[in-house]
Amino acid sequence: MTTLKAVRGTRDLLPPETALWNRIEATARAVFARYNFGEIRTPVFEDTALFSRGVGEETDIVSKEMYTWEDRARAQSEKTQTLTLRPENTAGVVRAYIEHKLGETGQLQKLYYIGPQFRRERPQKGRYRQFSQIGAEVIGPPSAGSESPLRDAEVLEMLATLLDELGIEGWTLHLNSVGSSADRARYNDALRAALVPVVGQMCADCQRRAVTNPLRVLDCKVPADQPIIDTLPVIADSLDEASKAHFAAVTAALDAAGVPYTRNHRLVRGLDYYTRTTFEFTHGGLGAQNALLGGGRYDGLSEMIGGPKAPGIGFAMGEDRLVLTLQTQNPAAPQVLVDAYIAPVGEAMNAAALNLARELRRQGLWVELGDGSFRLKKSFEAADKTARQIVILGEDEIQTGILTVKNFSTGVQTKVPRGELAVFLAEPAGA
Ligand code: AMP
Repeated sequence: MTTLKAVRGTRDLLPPETALWNRIEATARAVFARYNFGEIRTPVFEDTALFSRGVGEETDIVSKEMYTWEDRARAQSEKTQTLTLRPENTAGVVRAYIEHKLGETGQLQKLYYIGPQFRRERPQKGRYRQFSQIGAEVIGPPSAGSESPLRDAEVLEMLATLLDELGIEGWTLHLNSVGSSADRARYNDALRAALVPVVGQMCADCQRRAVTNPLRVLDCKVPADQPIIDTLPVIADSLDEASKAHFAAVTAALDAAGVPYTRNHRLVRGLDYYTRTTFEFTHGGLGAQNALLGGGRYDGLSEMIGGPKAPGIGFAMGEDRLVLTLQTQNPAAPQVLVDAYIAPVGEAMNAAALNLARELRRQGLWVELGDGSFRLKKSFEAADKTARQIVILGEDEIQTGILTVKNFSTGVQTKVPRGELAVFLAEPAGA
């Protein structure tokens, strides 16, 4: 029989690496709490129409990367539906915002999520078919100040703080404005016109994009096309006064807070719903897939999926890429050792050993429990790999109430009364 393996583009995350994932998530939750964000958990699958409308039919995600299936009706009262594993979480959050009428509170909603997303992309380092995103959205009625450039700057400042607290060194914030949809239409026309005389020399993808969605030409990575792209008009020149002022207010607030950024005229992002501010944080250590996170403002998204006017700004960070970056920065992460390994001497001591482990664990110690069927030499070898100290538990120890503890880093062996054991193990002599 062929052995079954995890599906291409998916991975098992194992300890000790999962400890790093947990640390990243705990840091993110702590930072989000300080900025008064609350957690939202939306379903992993949704009606396909949510993504085709909310993300855009023309995007790579919707046109070729979604996991979509016909979900058969199981009863007369049900309809057969077309469902999709979420490729991103913003559309789901905005659907929930509309469905639960969160706009009627009149308050700005500040929501974060952590969870798996699914895209049928070509797998490579840093790019998977199931990956995890940590993201947040600030959304609300205009009367709650949801359009304010201060919201954009605050989200960016929060991201800079989060990356710093995670220990990500040397990130770059790329910032741009794609303006209003009218600005973008104007820019599309300017691009289309500028592409006419040069597109014949460009790659096949660009030739197609020049017709369907000229903005996407700016995403092209083909080296030979780059000098041509550098000659194309920039979107900054197509922005109207309101969009220009909005962007200027964002950068002024970032300057005041001391958050560094670079203006990147080519940053137009892959999703259709963005308006005005767009951004990406990159990291040099990631290679080809160098984006740690991306985001931007999406003032028209709620209306696109049938909701009220609800401007918003948000981002999604690739958690897999945060892990890769931290592992590259610190390849030899120290092994975590538990406080004590309890070695029962003989199987008759197993039950007493479980009781001792229970006592110590309830006092907060990290304890590994051995097995009395092991010879003492085997217990010592196992303990040396997992614990800072070994506790021997035999007949004598039970009789006298005095236990033998050996500390592996100092090599010192100590007799410790059972009542003092927890304190001793927590602060071993010489530690
Ligand atoms: P997007 O939703 O496309 O704006 O992506 C936001 C972030 O999610 C990116 O900057 C990446 O860090 C991460 N990301 C997107 N797609 C993948 C993928 N297939 N595998 C791993 N991370 C991804």
